[in-house]
Amino acid sequence: MIATLTDSRLVRGEPSEPSDVCDYISPTRLNTWLQCPLKFKLHYIDRLKEPTSPSLFLGKRVHDGLAFFYRHLQNGDHLSADDVSRHIVASWDEAVAADEMEFASCDDEATLKRQAIELIEAYLDMRNDNEGLPRAVQCPLESPLVDPDTGDQLGLTLFGFVDLILETPTGFAIVDFKTASRSSAPLEISHEVQLSCYAYAFRHVFGLAEQEVQIRSLIKTKTPKVETHRYSARSDVHFRRLFAVIRAYLNDLQANRFAYRPSWTCAMCNYRETECLQWLG
Ligand code: SF4
Repeated sequence: MIATLTDSRLVRGEPSEPSDVCDYISPTRLNTWLQCPLKFKLHYIDRLKEPTSPSLFLGKRVHDGLAFFYRHLQNGDHLSADDVSRHIVASWDEAVAADEMEFASCDDEATLKRQAIELIEAYLDMRNDNEGLPRAVQCPLESPLVDPDTGDQLGLTLFGFVDLILETPTGFAIVDFKTASRSSAPLEISHEVQLSCYAYAFRHVFGLAEQEVQIRSLIKTKTPKVETHRYSARSDVHFRRLFAVIRAYLNDLQANRFAYRPSWTCAMCNYRETECLQWLG
């Protein structure tokens, strides 16, 4: 039986805060831990607030605009790009205040707002009306974690915060939106943990396997463009690898062991010149 938006495991909005790291696992948490365990600890355990970067803020506004479009489409209301642009403009100031955004200048803010609108316009321009019907929009799918190999209940929940689930004549597609500064090769492994989490939670809630998973990238080039990368349904191998990661993550949590992991991503880390320098192991 197909789940609907009223299903209790389809939860609207973020899990309520404050939330202990032992309460649930999410793809974002797993990926942050994989990137750098120390950064994970500073953000999720020590709760050291990080400022929202313009790039992150832009991504959030674009996601909000796409969710606005698809939620209306769910109700049979086909909005135009102008409708969505008006929503972005109308909700902008409230979002700036909520994220405590500080722009270097009014021009910078206006440029970012225009970029969000142009990305949405490019997306809606390339969107195919036959892509399928939206069944869930920006919605966390909740699932208990049960190791597929051993049947062990891990005793905590997975929240896969999925941007869009489309029902097509041949099955369900799980879609994740990204904003990126340039085109990139469709490297499946770089999205593997996130997509495996989504598929795992989707199967629990919807009671069937997805037909495919997609990454739709909105590229912030001078003339914005959109690239869709499609990947096949997740296999047993994907889920075995996911649970190996989850077990390693839980081991670190239980041992309170969060080593730093220097890499190229340090350039974008807010803790680089402060807490990270103080870390002594
Ligand atoms: S600067 Fe690098 S090593 Fe240090 S916390 Fe950030 S990501 Fe980790």
